[in-house]
Amino acid sequence: MGTLIQNGTVVNADDRKRADLLIEDGKISEVRAGIDPASHTIVDATGLLLLPGGVDAHTHMDMPFGGTISADDFLTGTRAAAIGGTTTIVDFAIQARGTRMRDAFDIWRGKAEGKACIDYGLHMIVTDLGSDAGKQGLHDMDDMVREGVASFKLFMAYPNVLMVDDGTIFKALQQTAKNGALICMHAENGSVIDTIVQQTLAEGKTAPIYHALTRPTIAEAEAVNRCIAMAEIAGTPVYIVHLSSEDALNQVREARDRGLPAFAETCPQYLLLSLEDHMPGKSFEEAKYVFTPPLREKKNQPKLWDGLVHDHLQVVSTDHCPFCFADQKVLGKDDFTKIPNGGPGVENRMQVIYHHGVNAGKITLERFVEITSTAPARIFGMYPKKGLLAKGSDADVILWDPNAEHVISAATHNMRVDYSMFEGWRVNGNARMVFSRGELIVDGGRYIGVEGRGQYLRREARGGAWQ
Ligand SMILES: [Zn+2]
Repeated sequence: MGTLIQNGTVVNADDRKRADLLIEDGKISEVRAGIDPASHTIVDATGLLLLPGGVDAHTHMDMPFGGTISADDFLTGTRAAAIGGTTTIVDFAIQARGTRMRDAFDIWRGKAEGKACIDYGLHMIVTDLGSDAGKQGLHDMDDMVREGVASFKLFMAYPNVLMVDDGTIFKALQQTAKNGALICMHAENGSVIDTIVQQTLAEGKTAPIYHALTRPTIAEAEAVNRCIAMAEIAGTPVYIVHLSSEDALNQVREARDRGLPAFAETCPQYLLLSLEDHMPGKSFEEAKYVFTPPLREKKNQPKLWDGLVHDHLQVVSTDHCPFCFADQKVLGKDDFTKIPNGGPGVENRMQVIYHHGVNAGKITLERFVEITSTAPARIFGMYPKKGLLAKGSDADVILWDPNAEHVISAATHNMRVDYSMFEGWRVNGNARMVFSRGELIVDGGRYIGVEGRGQYLRREARGGAWQ
């Protein structure tokens, strides 16, 4: 006896069809028209779309940053994600300098266990390959791959905190050429930016807008170009996280046009918010929009959408990293470098990309499924378990109501943060019901699952098999 979802339209990245979908033992057991209702529990999906659960490959729950901690932990963050139609996240464990990657892995598993409401994987942020010419660190990377950590993130920005030098990046890239994992890159030229930041502070410029004005798009493009070049020399793919500008996108597009396995994600904030609209330089309130890379000029937005349409960009993730305005963002009241970097988004990604992408006619419904679910599942070694509605896949299914009207607001959202980046936005299209491994966990905007039911995902290092 299973759960039979009838009368809906089943949408995957490559097609849509009217079909019934049967869930048994947490998996999808059949997708076709006219499945015998037998003794199954029936769910009527008339007028609704069945989408694979969203996969958000870039979140930071319970993350220390600049003397504070991101406001959502794995409980509140994944519960909010589920309500918004996301059934899988990949979060980042951070290796503290001078410690082993396994230490960070254990700490982050500890943060998530008993709290995560949806399935989660972990990337490992590498800050230190050790003092023996990297031998221990590279060995640790292989160790992590065996634990299902199929991707690593390195920083070309934040000198003295997270930034690593090109030699370290190159060694890590070479290691993934052997072990099949994927390097994710925060691509901004940290040394140049840090110099501009120091000069700007010395001129007495401390407002939030200077966070944006000290991080030129060319510093992003330069780092994207450099890391793709290093990946090409190492003979391995690379994935650029939170790409924000046309200049940076041009580098990815040129590499892909040459046939290189360069991949990139962008985020809703870069597609939908801008320097002109949200950071005019008038008040400290603008600290709500301090994240990195920063907000860009509006002219970048159509270029990023165009990149999504033409597959120069493959994924939309959130970089969800919320800090409350009242007691966290305010740490940078007199100095923009002390504003915790990040914004909330995990609950709203599917809503705003559906509304401003599909409803606005910019992307097809199938492409929406691809960039929010299928592509990240593939790239990060979870496909076809995640990212697909087909026999054998996990029954992570959203019943999406394309006509539901929803007003986004901090007053009603489920993220544990006191503001919304999309306050007052009216969107059409929202999750009506959400199943995770066959369990109904969200019904009518309420989380009804057991807290902590989410499972750690051991991801496969695919060595480019997903290209
Ligand atoms: Zn991030």
